[in-house]
Amino acid sequence: MLTYKRENSMKCDICSAMVSPDVLPETYRCPSCGFFKSTLPVQINEIERIDETAREHALKPIRTANFRQILDECGSLFPSDAEILDVGCAHGWFLEAAKGRGYKAIGIEPDKEMAGRALAAGHEVVTGFFPDALPAGRQFNVITFNDVFEHLPDVPAMAQAVHSRLKANGFAIINLPVSDGAVFRATRAAAKIGVKGPYERMWQTGLPSPHLSYFSAATLPRLMERTGFQLVQQGELEAIATNGLYERIRYDRNIGALQASALYVAAQGMRLLGHLTHSDIGYFAFKKIG
Ligand SMILES: [Zn+2]
Repeated sequence: MLTYKRENSMKCDICSAMVSPDVLPETYRCPSCGFFKSTLPVQINEIERIDETAREHALKPIRTANFRQILDECGSLFPSDAEILDVGCAHGWFLEAAKGRGYKAIGIEPDKEMAGRALAAGHEVVTGFFPDALPAGRQFNVITFNDVFEHLPDVPAMAQAVHSRLKANGFAIINLPVSDGAVFRATRAAAKIGVKGPYERMWQTGLPSPHLSYFSAATLPRLMERTGFQLVQQGELEAIATNGLYERIRYDRNIGALQASALYVAAQGMRLLGHLTHSDIGYFAFKKIG
């Protein structure tokens, strides 16, 4: 049986206040700025659990639609021949969308199986972690994080690395789940009264790369502005699409069909709630100014 030791003296990455224990044993919330973080274990390339084929089928339509929206809404910010680095490119779907619009797009991916898939699809991919696996001094016009930033340790250092790897007037585009979202708030409320499963899934506990942070529309700009960026564009993205939703829930082999069906019904209710309030996925575009 796993036991977790509570961190008693952990500082907020955004405002340096001491964080407080949150609802799960591994999650924390900053009482000062509202930033959430976790101490969930990361096991990339170590545990084999996800059925990749089912996951691919489930996620591609929604991810591709979100990438098109981001490129539609941010494309006017940067030159038409911009060189884009997609951090954590996975299968290469963002690279595919960006190259389809004429940009030069390169991926960097630490998961060897994923990097292999992107390479096999014909993309230029560096296998390894950002920024260390890149050639020294290599800079880009645009650096994107699509469902990646929330998985990273030491977000202040990551923001600094993005700043130093961008050319003058370059852009960072971060697309991530946010704690302002209706589903995040509803599942956290449920966890407080003892129904912890949905909130554990929001953090992706037990998966190889769980969420290490949950930013909001307030905390992410605060981190980036401190690091020499200016927020220039933001929007909400569709968090859960009906198309592929059942497979998305099912891709975790530890969930049975009956449980998946119940989650599906719950997720549809959450989706409706999300449309009435705030989406659980947002994107933020920052310009390098300093
Ligand atoms: Zn804080």
